[in-house]
Amino acid sequence: MSRIAAKFGGTSLASSTQIRKVKAIVDADPRRGVVVVSAPGKRESSEAKITDLLYLCQEIAMAPADFSATFELVRQRFLEIERELGVDAGMAALLDQFEADLRAGVTKDYVASRGECFNGMIIAKYLGAEFVDPCQTIFIQKTGLINPKTYDALRERLSDESKRYVIPGFYGQGADGKVKTFSRGGSDISGAIAARAISAICYENWTDVSGLLMTDPRIVENPRPMLEVTYRELRELSYLGASVLHDEATLPVREVGIPIHIRNTNEPNHVGTRIVPSLSVQGEADSEIAGIAGKDQFVMICIEKTLMNREVGFTYRVLDILRRQGVSIEHVPSSIDGINVIVDKSQIEGKLDEILEEIRVNLKPDNIRVVPQLALIAIVGEEMNHSIGIAARAFSALARAEVNVQVINQGASEVNIIVGVAPQDFHAAVKALYQEFVATQRKSLAPPAEA
Ligand code: ASP
Repeated sequence: MSRIAAKFGGTSLASSTQIRKVKAIVDADPRRGVVVVSAPGKRESSEAKITDLLYLCQEIAMAPADFSATFELVRQRFLEIERELGVDAGMAALLDQFEADLRAGVTKDYVASRGECFNGMIIAKYLGAEFVDPCQTIFIQKTGLINPKTYDALRERLSDESKRYVIPGFYGQGADGKVKTFSRGGSDISGAIAARAISAICYENWTDVSGLLMTDPRIVENPRPMLEVTYRELRELSYLGASVLHDEATLPVREVGIPIHIRNTNEPNHVGTRIVPSLSVQGEADSEIAGIAGKDQFVMICIEKTLMNREVGFTYRVLDILRRQGVSIEHVPSSIDGINVIVDKSQIEGKLDEILEEIRVNLKPDNIRVVPQLALIAIVGEEMNHSIGIAARAFSALARAEVNVQVINQGASEVNIIVGVAPQDFHAAVKALYQEFVATQRKSLAPPAEA
């Protein structure tokens, strides 16, 4: 049987009510044989996530101070979920032991991992599934990368297709044999690993939104969700701030071409967004671009020097100064006598004066100027490769909105066009582009109901 790996995020598992919805989803399709779970998230926006409470307990324990009040919140949440679901996963004893371990001293990663571990144990009981220990099956290198032996170990452990399995997300075994977590939000990575291990037909990522939106809802009211997006498009969009999935979560499945399906636990009939190697006919027809993303936190250093193009190594030396300062570079638009270097503001804070001085001394430019804040906006779409006139339309739309474009860059991958504008024009520019490419270009229809 072809199987699906279904990962459920923290809000999908925040309470017994939410976990009942998860059971209905898993029961609805027998192919959902491998379920990956996060720790319980927030039931309401003012509440803390269990993972945050666990980090806090560990911090207080290390102080050392009394963490009982914070620990009680964790204990009560798990006991409540277990009780309300009517299962016995032995939580009371496990939590007592965990509290004693915390007093005795355990690693930060171990403490953080208990959120997923305990939730996994309760949910395995509730779903009538086998609990899979990530410490025996998911191996994480010192660098945080996945040890490839993981896939064989996990494939072997999940081999019985007649069974249902529950795997806690977010952690595995580190190179030293101890519990090691991924970075925050890392259950998405665990879900992708599980999908790859079982050669799943799909990696379903169940969350609290009905798919990825075509632009930032803080800028454009009610943007429409994407029906499909390619891995490449998603990379470009998330680089400029669009994020629902952990950044590294696409890699394990992308390498083997398994599609990811973002879906909403609270609206399971919504079609969601598919992240795919290449667009289907329906995906192509749906919209002419994948989306518009942007961030207004960039700094641009503009360096001018007549006959710069004759000075071999000029660009190299500029970039080398930034390298030595540990600053990574986003874009380098250039002209015959000038080069601009765009970097993320957070990268250069506290280092700018020194960098400018080094450039002045070593490269003797005619002029050097800093644009202290620049917004970059990417219009992303595979189709841009073969559609004529996209750039022309983008610039006319921006001109009509009276936005002055300071930088233009067509990404090397040709799936994006990047424009740089002043921060005060940022929202107007995103709105104008959305209007041009999405709102008035509706190629399709209302999202089709799930088959
Ligand atoms: N519970 C972890 C976190 O809050 C991992 C996850 O949910 O993906 O970051």
